[in-house]
Amino acid sequence: MSKVALITGVTGQDGAYLSEYLLKKGYIVHGIKRRSSMFNTDRIDHLYQDPHTTNRNFILHYGDLTDSLNLTRIIQEVQPDEIYNLAAMSHVKVSFDTPEYTANADGIGTLRILEAVRLLGLKKTRIYQASTSELYGMVQEIPQTERTPFYPRSPYAVAKMYAYWITVNYREAYGMHASNGILFNHESPIRGETFVTRKVTRAVSRIALGMLDKVYLGNLSSKRDWGHAKDYVRAMYLILQQDKPDDYVIATGITTSIRDFITMACEEVGLEVAFKGQGVDEVGYLVGVDEMRFRERVGDEYLEDLRMRILSNDNEIVKIDPMYFRPTEVDLLIGDPAKSQQVLGWKPKYDLQGLVADMMASDVKLFQKESYLRNGGYRILNFFE
Ligand code: NDP
Ligand code: GDP
Repeated sequence: MSKVALITGVTGQDGAYLSEYLLKKGYIVHGIKRRSSMFNTDRIDHLYQDPHTTNRNFILHYGDLTDSLNLTRIIQEVQPDEIYNLAAMSHVKVSFDTPEYTANADGIGTLRILEAVRLLGLKKTRIYQASTSELYGMVQEIPQTERTPFYPRSPYAVAKMYAYWITVNYREAYGMHASNGILFNHESPIRGETFVTRKVTRAVSRIALGMLDKVYLGNLSSKRDWGHAKDYVRAMYLILQQDKPDDYVIATGITTSIRDFITMACEEVGLEVAFKGQGVDEVGYLVGVDEMRFRERVGDEYLEDLRMRILSNDNEIVKIDPMYFRPTEVDLLIGDPAKSQQVLGWKPKYDLQGLVADMMASDVKLFQKESYLRNGGYRILNFFE
């Protein structure tokens, strides 16, 4: 008999990779997606199965973490062996603009799922809660472990702190198999476009293709422990395969500044960047091109334009816009994955270099395609033209 998984946030980065991973393992995967006025299933369209076919193993349901009746009904219908609660308003900066909604979806949403499973008497259902390194917030100790005290620094992190503890509480109070994965930042070619890594890989790709002059960013000095989402969804699965529920840090143990990430993304396609100035006055300049690498990764169509840009001193490619600063920042995240390595046997396959290469290759291809379409005369028509 196939195991049945229910994934909330199935249309997100992790939901898409986890769906693929579980389907390959022979699971029947149910996912909860939100109603939207436009299609929001880009990341999972390759897994889609026509509802008119029989024996489907990938089934989508409309739902929302703010709607307990809906969640309870879906859980009752699906009777899942495993629930992966990945749905969330997941953007730290946006959580300062939408604090109440974030608390409702990210905090109380988790309670709704736990309570539905309890009330439905689903004693065998295992629950994974998508906890986050943002819980550590203000640095208390490094590297951060399962025992490091939390000090959340955003409405997002505070909401996730409630979700973390309500998961622990339901485990202790009702003996539920409910676990937290405290995942450090993880990225991929399908990472949301407004998170810093993807914003950078998209921008650098467009700069290399002559489609963008410069990118505006916020605090370049904060440091993150970045891994690849493909590795991290494997950890989620492993956490739910343990006999005993528990909480685990999933991280690489290596931290890198935003500035260094930009340098790596540029180097990946042969662009050389140098930073000058401080704080809001910091600027990133294009100072050279490794032509062999550029030709290999991008082609030579735009090489001459780049050479001219460097010579003409019109070479600012990164500027700071304070709009992207957060009212309270998390300066340094670096996780200690010792427990997950020992207990789960989890080890990442990608290092940061591999992650940057994967993201850059994908974004260069994406914008090459867009550039060909534009050069071929294709443009999106204004509806009122
Ligand atoms: P994404 O932002 O890519 O995906 C979030 C998903 O949640 C989307 O499918 C989104 O739907 C859905 N969603 C948002 N609000 C609701 C709601 N009210 N009801 C139902 N669904 C909702 O995040 P990731 O895949 O990157 O992250 C997965 C989880 O892991 C999140 O909980 C995140 O907070 C957490 N996390 C992520 C880390 C990371 O570095 N990626 C690090 C640590 C934790 P839609 O597509 O319609 O927007
Ligand atoms: P987070 O760690 O979950 O907040 O992931 P993000 O990718 O959103 O941000 C990581 C870090 O990059 C934070 O310290 C941000 O302040 C910093 N950062 C700098 N510029 C930007 C930007 O333009 N967008 C985002 N999202 N983050 C930025």
